[in-house]
Amino acid sequence: MPERVYIFDTTLRDGEQSPGCSMTVPEKIKMAAKLIETGVDILEAGFPIASEGDAEAVAAVSREFPWANVAALARANKADVDEAARALKQARRPRIHTFLATSDIHLQYKLKKTRQQVLEEACAAVALARSYVDDVEFSAEDATRTDPDYLEQVCRAVVAAGARTVNLPDTVGYTVPEEYAAMIGRMAGALGDSAVVSVHCHDDLGMATANSLAALHAGARQIECTINGIGERAGNAALEEVVMAMNTRRDRLPFETRIATEHLFSASQLLSSIISFGPQPNKAIVGENAFAHEAGIHQDGYLKERTTYEIIEPRTVGVPETRLVLGKHSGRHALARRCEDLGIPLTRQELDVLYTRFTALADRKKGVRNDEIAALAREVIGQLKASGAAAD
Ligand code: MN
Repeated sequence: MPERVYIFDTTLRDGEQSPGCSMTVPEKIKMAAKLIETGVDILEAGFPIASEGDAEAVAAVSREFPWANVAALARANKADVDEAARALKQARRPRIHTFLATSDIHLQYKLKKTRQQVLEEACAAVALARSYVDDVEFSAEDATRTDPDYLEQVCRAVVAAGARTVNLPDTVGYTVPEEYAAMIGRMAGALGDSAVVSVHCHDDLGMATANSLAALHAGARQIECTINGIGERAGNAALEEVVMAMNTRRDRLPFETRIATEHLFSASQLLSSIISFGPQPNKAIVGENAFAHEAGIHQDGYLKERTTYEIIEPRTVGVPETRLVLGKHSGRHALARRCEDLGIPLTRQELDVLYTRFTALADRKKGVRNDEIAALAREVIGQLKASGAAAD
């Protein structure tokens, strides 16, 4: 029996707080609906103390999707935890996610606190959070650069104080798979069944996905990740990558999630339409070229037998049939449908404007590619929004 792994999505929090990724409350609700449809287990909707918008977003997501497991982030102090609890009031399955750095480098330069102080503050924040909700997660920020003996002490203490999930982030994207697995294994061994061990990896060295997966073998059962891998600096582990690695290599990764993989591509496209950029063309799973075959030898093999050069069937992740090119003879219905497949649902007015632009472009070209259609649709939506013409 494959072991269950929980997918904790932080697109709306860690992702949202990175450059070019800020989202309005209605945009967060739109994205949250898609993430829930995709099957994420926990949805981190914001950092309520950080701004009024974040508090509103957490409250709105809690209200709109009452049965979703909604998480709110809080530093390990009373004001933050109180504010997180307030924002989560309408959630039926609220989680307070409180964090505090544990590495000496953060203690010395950022917090100017002793290890004992940090230990006490972490436990106090967890206990306060537990007075509001049953489901409390504690993150030991910069866990990968923390002294392992001290980290173990913190892990045991926060669980005794009431944390049910202990997250051990690679905050600065510094660790490597073997090292991370060893650390996770030690902490998972110390905690046993008393808490879920979680991972949160950044991609500064391009190893966020590899590190997250290495940790599963060592006992981690929650992965924090984002659509398209957006997040601070080089980003977080990409949800679509960790999920499809488990799906494609069940022989080596005997774990399962509740992600409905056919939504991955449209989730990626929807996010791109909301924020200011999409994944790079060669991005694994969701990039425009992820399933394109250009080289002659590859095309020849692919046409004889798909599996010669393709390990995932595009439709498994919801990539529309790209061989169906839209051109100047395509109708409005086909265009609307294609946009929907690309994760960009259009209002009637948006479709009207887009159709005019699309036919003008199609007149000059043989066929219009999906990425061109998506870019044009985003442009139209943006312009209508800027001119104040869009109703929503
Ligand atoms: Mn992070």
